[in-house]
Amino acid sequence: MSDPLPPLREVIATHGLSARKSLGQNFLLDLNLTRKIARRAGDLTDSDVLEIGPGPGGLTRALLAEGARRVVAVERDPRCLPALAQVATAYPGRLTVIEGDALQMDLTPHLRTPYKVVANLPYNVGTELLIRWLTVDAWPPDWSSLTLMFQREVAERIVAQPGNKAYGRLSILAGWRADPRIVLDLPPQAFTPPPKVSSAVVHFTQLAAPRFKADRRVLERVVAAAFQQRRKMMRAALKPLVAEPVALLKSVGIDPTARAETVSLEAFCALARQIEAPIE
Ligand code: SAM
Repeated sequence: MSDPLPPLREVIATHGLSARKSLGQNFLLDLNLTRKIARRAGDLTDSDVLEIGPGPGGLTRALLAEGARRVVAVERDPRCLPALAQVATAYPGRLTVIEGDALQMDLTPHLRTPYKVVANLPYNVGTELLIRWLTVDAWPPDWSSLTLMFQREVAERIVAQPGNKAYGRLSILAGWRADPRIVLDLPPQAFTPPPKVSSAVVHFTQLAAPRFKADRRVLERVVAAAFQQRRKMMRAALKPLVAEPVALLKSVGIDPTARAETVSLEAFCALARQIEAPIE
């Protein structure tokens, strides 16, 4: 299906949408590329799609052209609203635009669950939202998949395995409750204006249940302590959390002199289970 709307450069010129650094604005203007990203999100015809930060609408248009049943898009910059209204008119009844800061609002009343999230966001906002989406109390969550743009280095941290220097808190949170994969690499020139670094799209499929049993809060605290100073041995890193770290580590088969970056997700979950009550 072809897109009935004007080219994005024209949209930007018509509505005066000069990119603002303060809002992390690096736009995707190539609709072939945005459609490629939309396709990486899988079949969109059977669920609502939540897009955060649509900007001038390049990815929004691609999601709709690729058949998304309904898109709910949340944009903080009011300058983008007239351009997005044009997109809504071209796809009657399928696009709802909400103005506001996605970090400050509850979007669930606007969406039918389970929904899919697709977004090219400022990197800091993206990481904060990802952590929120992965650490909700009830599991499975309201979303079935997340397809998100990150700085390539952050994408590598998300998918890293033990023994890799990128392995850490993000890898564990992502791998515990989801299946994250890098599905597309983008050079800085793909964006207007180009950022300083390369980017990558990561697709997360929700797991029906966490990969290994553990209390979420305990796991988060253990992992945070273990990686607080990556070079510390586990026995020293866990000292602020538990009275007898050496005995505890041995009881779950972790070498007390190991460093967090070599400890598997399964072992972290065993450690969390061993710490009986949630740590307050
Ligand atoms: N998705 C568009 C694209 O691919 O061309 C724009 C991408 S640009 C990197 C990020 C967009 O997110 C901008 O339009 C910006 O105004 C918006 N934004 C930034 N922080 C936001 C927030 N907290 N809530 C909602 N939108 C936000």
